[in-house]
Amino acid sequence: MHEAAIALNLIEAVGDRLAPEALARVAVIHVRIGELSGVSADALEFAFRCLTAHSPLAAARLDFEPVPLAQVCDACGRGSPVRDLVFRCPACGSERTRITGGRELEVRSLELAEEGEAVHA
Ligand SMILES: [Zn+2]
Repeated sequence: MHEAAIALNLIEAVGDRLAPEALARVAVIHVRIGELSGVSADALEFAFRCLTAHSPLAAARLDFEPVPLAQVCDACGRGSPVRDLVFRCPACGSERTRITGGRELEVRSLELAEEGEAVHA
């Protein structure tokens, strides 16, 4: 995965949600990372630090929320977590399941300094 490109996307996503003058007040950027997204949180954090070093986001830090892999069964409609990458419904045993979570890579919310105000994505 290209963490620098992903970090740029996150920075753009933050820029889309806030007025330019609010960027310097961003304290925490909450990011959801799916188990299956293939993104290394450490590499992403490093890329983010490099890209924002001399920007209004220099003081912001990333907070990662892992999103576990989840599936829904096409046969019985039950949702369940995926364990050990086994895509099979634990309720009825069907292997016709679809992934419903775990591929996320997105900004969930932002915390701004001062007012302690939260901006939800
Ligand atoms: Zn099932």
